[in-house]
Amino acid sequence: MSDHVLVINAGSSSLKYSLVDGRSGEAAASGLVERIGESQSRHVHHGPDGDAESERAIADHEAALQAALDAFAEHGPALDGIDLTAVGHRVVHGGARFGAPTLIDDDVIAAVTDLVPLAPLHNPANLEGIEVARRLFPNLPQVAVFDTAFHQTLPEAAYTYAVPLAWRDDHGVRRYGFHGTSHAFVSQEAARLLDRAVADVNVIVLHLGNGCSAAAVRGGRSVETSMGLTPLEGLVMGTRSGDLDPAVPAYLARELGRTVDEVDRQLNKASGLKGLAGANDFREVLRLRADGDPGATLAFDVYCHRLRKYIGAYYAVLGTVDAVVFTAGVGEHSPDLRAAALTGLDRLGITLDETRNRAGATRISPDDSPVAVLVVPTNEEWQIAREALAVVGQGT
Ligand code: AMP
Repeated sequence: MSDHVLVINAGSSSLKYSLVDGRSGEAAASGLVERIGESQSRHVHHGPDGDAESERAIADHEAALQAALDAFAEHGPALDGIDLTAVGHRVVHGGARFGAPTLIDDDVIAAVTDLVPLAPLHNPANLEGIEVARRLFPNLPQVAVFDTAFHQTLPEAAYTYAVPLAWRDDHGVRRYGFHGTSHAFVSQEAARLLDRAVADVNVIVLHLGNGCSAAAVRGGRSVETSMGLTPLEGLVMGTRSGDLDPAVPAYLARELGRTVDEVDRQLNKASGLKGLAGANDFREVLRLRADGDPGATLAFDVYCHRLRKYIGAYYAVLGTVDAVVFTAGVGEHSPDLRAAALTGLDRLGITLDETRNRAGATRISPDDSPVAVLVVPTNEEWQIAREALAVVGQGT
């Protein structure tokens, strides 16, 4: 058998796929089908001969995965020559039940279905991807890799909200955390870059993309993270507010005569950078700020202030910190953000070498700095492939 895993990330109207060598991390091909169910769906396949793009109606997730398989056959690499080992599925919410990647069977599907109320937008789409892949690859092991699983090591004091027992016991109200696949990958990479064993390092990971989250990782185990029951809590994000007084939704529902669901939607879709600057794309916020736009200037400042606050809090949680690591779109590509977020932290041993920061180096702190500041590109597909291989007994 090869080490190749087909990694699938099914969204409500999209399907992302990647053919990854779980050992080397090399992606032989990848692709994205968007606007599934609309009259003009879009399919891009990145194969060995470059990109193939098409627009046509793709009715559902089954047709989308079939389109991906057709693209493999037409543009390569041919899947029958590859001898796939497994299909790895990104599943957003694994609740308290899944602390590790899991071989999918009917029981697992039932458990992921039970968790739909906790992730009503994501888990149904992930399940759809699983069902379709099981039909099209009936003989391959299918592995679920949960966004929440890495954070199942949080101590009780960190994951518990101070709310009535019945909410916690009967409704699963607690911190779960997300982006776990990315935090796992990046914290392992940080240890490798420091030439230390994962078990010996304490790391603060800042995953700053469209969604943003921080994690405190002690010896390879997540001990605190900023997202909570849902991915709304914590840092300022593209369209999500992150932290706010929990009384705000009820107050606004009363004041505006809106339902709590409507307010929740606004907090998820119309807040964050979008609410502050009118743009959810960080590059656009940077452009507007450079032109002196006050909303974008405020957005940048709020974003950095929140980040700095979390770094300080997670420093206190960990006690000692070996590295602060930036990852995902904003974290990997914005030296301005990295410099602003770390301003004034010298007394904590966190300093930047501005030349390295601007040059796009991996280690952007001075060599003699007590805390290494690193920029590590995340690779969730590789992590999913790696974990899927481990589940089917081929891991390293
Ligand atoms: P992700 O979710 O990881 O794809 O990250 C998306 C976010 O990264 C968006 O807000 C982008 O604007 C931001 N981003 C991508 N490239 C850059 C860049 N060169 N500078 C600043 N932000 C960037």
